[in-house]
Amino acid sequence: MAEKVAFVTGGAQGIGEAISKRLAKDGFAVAVVDLNVDKAGEVAQAIKDNGGEAIAIKLDVSDREAFSAAVDEVAEKLGSFDVIVNNAGLGPTTPIDTITPELFDKVMHINVAGTMWGVQAATRKFRELGKKGKIINAASQAGVVGNPNLMLYSSTKFAIRGLTQVAARDLAAEGITANAYAPGIVKTPMMLDIAHQVGKNAGKDDEWGMSTFSKDIALGRLSEPEDVAAAVAFLAGPDSNYITGQTIIVDGGMQFH
Ligand code: NAD
Repeated sequence: MAEKVAFVTGGAQGIGEAISKRLAKDGFAVAVVDLNVDKAGEVAQAIKDNGGEAIAIKLDVSDREAFSAAVDEVAEKLGSFDVIVNNAGLGPTTPIDTITPELFDKVMHINVAGTMWGVQAATRKFRELGKKGKIINAASQAGVVGNPNLMLYSSTKFAIRGLTQVAARDLAAEGITANAYAPGIVKTPMMLDIAHQVGKNAGKDDEWGMSTFSKDIALGRLSEPEDVAAAVAFLAGPDSNYITGQTIIVDGGMQFH
């Protein structure tokens, strides 16, 4: 069995898939956790085909009871629990007048509650096992600066940075750290959907929609999921032991603070 176990939500595609594969490469046994268990299974299989250890777990992160049970299942099956990456999230474009109570509840529940239940369940497990675990949450560049047409999404990502800071303070005495990563514009299915919307609204194609994003990036290219996974690998590994309560911005230089 691998010495360390990582639990990655939204691991079936996009950034979560890249994080799962990178952490496996770094020696973690990885639980690839997603609503879409078939796709999560494909990622777990790819990891195993490369000599790593992985399992796929079906979970809706907004379900608190199920989250807690999934953490127990992973610790039981993989023999430890060391890192949680609360990566799953929804990213709808939401011009102000399009936000309904139903959409608000859905996105808040998955992005914010889904992260909070992860912090809660992981904390319980770290305490049970006496681990100095690491909590890593997906924020966003849109959770550092409010972006146009993203009022609902940005609100969830600001909230995630806030709850990460509180977790860092509350858990520091136990040696548990909590940090966030804030991607910029990453080539994933989520971003392709947004590019499609932007293109369609302007009467142009998806590629045009995507090209509108790169003009603000100092490094001159969109992010690959692997760029974000590398930052998460740093936060998951021992080199970040003295870092807590922080958001690492991985946006190719979209803003400077
Ligand atoms: P994506 O939509 O491509 O993939 C998200 C994954 O999460 C999917 O596999 C989906 O099935 C899963 N998921 C969705 N709801 C779930 C739920 N309730 N329970 C369990 N799994 C669920 O997204 P992505 O672009 O890879 O983004 C991953 C994270 O990074 C998100 O939190 C997103 O907000 C954040 N992020 C992405 C970008 C970007 O440019 N793509 C930028 C900033 C932040």
